[in-house]
Amino acid sequence: RSFGGETTITATLFPGDGIGPEIADSVKEIFNATQVPIKWEEFEIGKTIDPRTGSFLTWESMESVRRNGIGLKGPMTTPIGKGFKSLNLTLRKELGLYANVRPCLSIPGYKTRYDNVDLVTIRENTEGEYSGLEHQVVKGVVESLKIITRQASMRVAEYAFHYAQTHGRKRVSAIHKANIMKKTDGLFLQCCREVAEKYPDIVYEEVIIDNCCMMLVKNPSLFDVLCMPNLYGDIISDLCAGLIGGLGLTPSGNIGDNGLALMEAVHGTAPDIAGKNMANPTALLLSSVMMLQHLKIQDKADQIHKAIMKTIEEGQYLTRDLGGKSSTSEYTKAVIGNL
Ligand code: NAD
Repeated sequence: RSFGGETTITATLFPGDGIGPEIADSVKEIFNATQVPIKWEEFEIGKTIDPRTGSFLTWESMESVRRNGIGLKGPMTTPIGKGFKSLNLTLRKELGLYANVRPCLSIPGYKTRYDNVDLVTIRENTEGEYSGLEHQVVKGVVESLKIITRQASMRVAEYAFHYAQTHGRKRVSAIHKANIMKKTDGLFLQCCREVAEKYPDIVYEEVIIDNCCMMLVKNPSLFDVLCMPNLYGDIISDLCAGLIGGLGLTPSGNIGDNGLALMEAVHGTAPDIAGKNMANPTALLLSSVMMLQHLKIQDKADQIHKAIMKTIEEGQYLTRDLGGKSSTSEYTKAVIGNL
């Protein structure tokens, strides 16, 4: 299909639940207004467990992401109960999404304690403390296994350095606790060092996680690209989201083999405001901008990004989380007006 002379790309869309469908609508409206050459293949979360995935996500939806190689995902609640896997974990495992990338950039016009935050966290997404291997040894004693493999560590380190090189970044910091976790974090660091040798133009450093937290809140501009194991990445990336204004603003990308990418907002389903036309769609919108950048549809990515920044800077149509009074649809309309 041709769209204004350009070939249309098919992308998978999971609106998700809670505020997901409302913010996904905002993305669809803005893409239409910008004439982005994307055709969505949309999937709801199933009502029954699909035995082929062991979760409420259907096998067909996984196949769609595999086939298209690109997708956008709204937040998803994992229903509480036994006998099925977390939706987010299913996506990561089924699709081999080994790296989670979160750019954290100060938004001009939205004042926080810091003006010039410009860093990227890259988190190993498949193993470490989140391997899901926990059991009770005897009553009152439980054990959780932290798995670090050379394969997954090399893969995420390679990605971090490649990302730094292709995005004009100067420094990669490996974040660790190898002074205590000598074997696991030791192996992670060893892999980062090996990869660093192949990138002499990029400064490589190693920072202990506790010191990293202190440095981040004192002066975030000390960092550029941060690469780390799963649990540290989960925590540090939320800390970084806080530096620029919170969950309504932070996008992310999950990266797999052969360029497969599933972008998503960092936040959850926000059940307290779901269905009320109150959610801030910026995080999902910026995730969709990351998707366009990944697809090298740079002109549309820039156009949408600029319109979002202008709308926030003008400050007239901000959602409640940013101190405004506008609804999701009023904000969306304002962004469209600024395209
Ligand atoms: P949450 O991110 O949903 O909400 C935390 C707070 O931030 C709430 O007050 C919410 O109203 C606000 N908020 C979040 N996103 C917002 C937005 N776009 N605009 C305005 N305000 C926003 O975190 P939670 O309450 O801990 O989790 C709720 C559910 O989401 C849980 O079921 C959790 O498992 C799920 N979750 C899913 C994902 C994901 O799909 N990737 C991530 C985190 C949490």
